[in-house]
Amino acid sequence: MDEDGATEPSFPEQEWPTLMMRGITKRCARCGGRKIYDSWFRMKERCPTCGFLFEREPGFFVGAYLINFAVVIVLLFVACMGFVAMKAIDPEASATVPLVICGVVALVVPLVFYPFARTIWAALHLASSPIEPQEVDAAAAFLRGDPVPAPSLSTGSIGPRGRRAADRGDLAGPTPGS
Ligand SMILES: [Zn+2]
Repeated sequence: MDEDGATEPSFPEQEWPTLMMRGITKRCARCGGRKIYDSWFRMKERCPTCGFLFEREPGFFVGAYLINFAVVIVLLFVACMGFVAMKAIDPEASATVPLVICGVVALVVPLVFYPFARTIWAALHLASSPIEPQEVDAAAAFLRGDPVPAPSLSTGSIGPRGRRAADRGDLAGPTPGS
């Protein structure tokens, strides 16, 4: 065992099924670690096991809202189809029960599913854009207790904000001092 590097835990990249399973079970997509929530709705900024910064770019978790929304829509569709089937069997069937079910689904499911939607989205995102070296460095620094280098939100090359900043830099850089 070599001295340097041996103390740094490594988190090998995983295949899609593993990442998705971690997302569905509310675990960190990068390492599979648990305890990434302080409460049902409050996700930790970084994974306590691997140091991964969950919000990888500005507006990152908008995708989680889409997942949550899609799940509710699918469930409402199933409920509506159930009502259609009910009506086929008994044309006099009342709509009250299906409406109550739909109301409960629309109100309760987004709250219950919220943390899962976030970890599923994080897993999907990690599967499509693997972790970058600066994210690995920042995560390792976090685990060591070192000051974490500038968050990847501002250093990341992706995103309109970063690009605009880079453009400004380009403009400011070569200004000729005549
Ligand atoms: Zn982790």
